[in-house]
Amino acid sequence: MSVDVSLAYDDQNIFAKILRGEIPNRTVYRDEWALAFHDIAPQAPVHVLVIPTGAFVSWDDFSARASEAEIAGFVRAVGQVARDLGLTGAGYRLLANTGHHGHQEVAHLHVHILAGKPLGPMLAR
Ligand code: AMP
Repeated sequence: MSVDVSLAYDDQNIFAKILRGEIPNRTVYRDEWALAFHDIAPQAPVHVLVIPTGAFVSWDDFSARASEAEIAGFVRAVGQVARDLGLTGAGYRLLANTGHHGHQEVAHLHVHILAGKPLGPMLAR
């Protein structure tokens, strides 16, 4: 089920709970601005989620409300994770599902990093 991103941020979403340490995750990277962890249901050999540590629902919410430092820190973290995982040679895909039509299931901004094999066309035809 997808979420309505026009609603205010709900601090009971599962990624907020992960950030607070209330539920476990397989962390691959953490700094002041971002947390990256393995997706619980991987859809590629490498499937990592990168989330900002601040309370943002979506990319557009983040771009509107986040500070310059939060934006820089998060964007840099996404690239850092890709480099740390050794993905830059063979390549990878970044994906940020947003809202109902984007099939966003968790209402905390997250970027999927997908990699590890040729991923095919961007959307199923
Ligand atoms: P989206 O559809 O873009 O909102 O993606 C949400 C992603 O979160 C899905 O790929 C889920 O498999 C993943 N997910 C949900 N719960 C967890 C969890 N506890 N730990 C790691 N990944 C999760």
